[in-house]
Amino acid sequence: MKTVVRSHKLDNVCYDIRGPIAEQARKMEDEGHRILKLNIGNPAPFGFDAPDDILKDVIHNLPTSQGYSDSTGIYGARVAVMQYYQQMNIKDIRIDDVYIGNGVSELIMMAMQALLNHGDEVLLPAPDYPLWTAAVSLSSGAPVHYRCDEQAGWFPDIDDIKKKITSKTRAIVLINPNNPTGAVYDKALLEEVVKLAREHSLVIYSDEIYDKILYDGTKHTCIASLADDVFCVTLSGLSKNYRVAGFRAGWLLVSGNKRVAREYIDALNVLSSMRMCANVPCQSAIQTALGGYQSIQDLVHDGGRLKIQRDIASTMLNQIDGIECVTPKGAMYCFARVDAKKFNITNDEQMIFDLLSKEKILLVHGRAFNLNEGVYFRLVFLPHSDMLIPAMERIERFFSQYRQQ
Ligand code: PLP
Repeated sequence: MKTVVRSHKLDNVCYDIRGPIAEQARKMEDEGHRILKLNIGNPAPFGFDAPDDILKDVIHNLPTSQGYSDSTGIYGARVAVMQYYQQMNIKDIRIDDVYIGNGVSELIMMAMQALLNHGDEVLLPAPDYPLWTAAVSLSSGAPVHYRCDEQAGWFPDIDDIKKKITSKTRAIVLINPNNPTGAVYDKALLEEVVKLAREHSLVIYSDEIYDKILYDGTKHTCIASLADDVFCVTLSGLSKNYRVAGFRAGWLLVSGNKRVAREYIDALNVLSSMRMCANVPCQSAIQTALGGYQSIQDLVHDGGRLKIQRDIASTMLNQIDGIECVTPKGAMYCFARVDAKKFNITNDEQMIFDLLSKEKILLVHGRAFNLNEGVYFRLVFLPHSDMLIPAMERIERFFSQYRQQ
């Protein structure tokens, strides 16, 4: 039999959050080492239990959820999502504008597959959540990264976006609140993005999966609510706000100028039906989650567990000589800059390997987020403070002794 080679479609596809370093961590675990995994935003293993009413809902609906549902999702979930966005003042949306998926991940893939032809360009943030870049590449598009400015709290650099728009640019992606930086964009910035999208006929994709994980009184604005006349695709889900990442429940909303996007919407319908439907028992949880008490508030306000952990991670990182971190306003990550000169670092991935082998802590290097300058890492601040504080002390100890060869 001939060698089974992989498709060239994967040549530029990379998703290093679960890449070679995570694989190395797994091997070390097999050898008996205890690894503290601060590489993935997965709340449940850190004791963030799902709200009870969500669990009860899934259990209650399990016996009647054995068949496929409509490919775009069950009625109750779609109505709940529609109403959620209606309350944000997004005009003229109907139940048919909502698609339920197996997590936002699946919907990102579908959204890009439906849009792109070979060489079509999509503007993506650098740093980004790398699934977006991977999805553009896998859909034969060309990812073009725009700069997010660390000095400006990691806000997108509008001038850089302008410079990167070409006749091939089809869309712009925002991740707001941002993974990995934790930036939450204000209305003024969002309005500038809408203006560019309007002028250049770009589709706006906004990944808002962390829209309720906000600190310090920060408010979130859904960009679609500012863009009645631009075609917008908004994505979110239950994984983070409701701590049920394993349920694989997400949604996508099309809004704004839908008249210009009829073909695209048809393509989304085809792709939805090709994968039958999303996980049915967990679709029922969407209505309960969106309609009920928003227990995430208890975690993010002053004195809330996530807020306390955000403060610990950000403060302790900034106390390390040679490390700086813009305090995240949302989400569950600190994205820290490392003084490359001080530590003689030429390879950020090697730095993360070295930390893993010395301190048994797993982080993700900056290049995994398609940021090709500087030396950075992302740390997930989900562990309880009694685990997080010693972890931060170990990271401090590592850097106090580190110099790359
Ligand atoms: N979008 C962003 C910005 C994320 O950080 C993640 C997961 O970390 C996802 C999407 C994937 O979410 P889901 O679990 O709904 O597939």
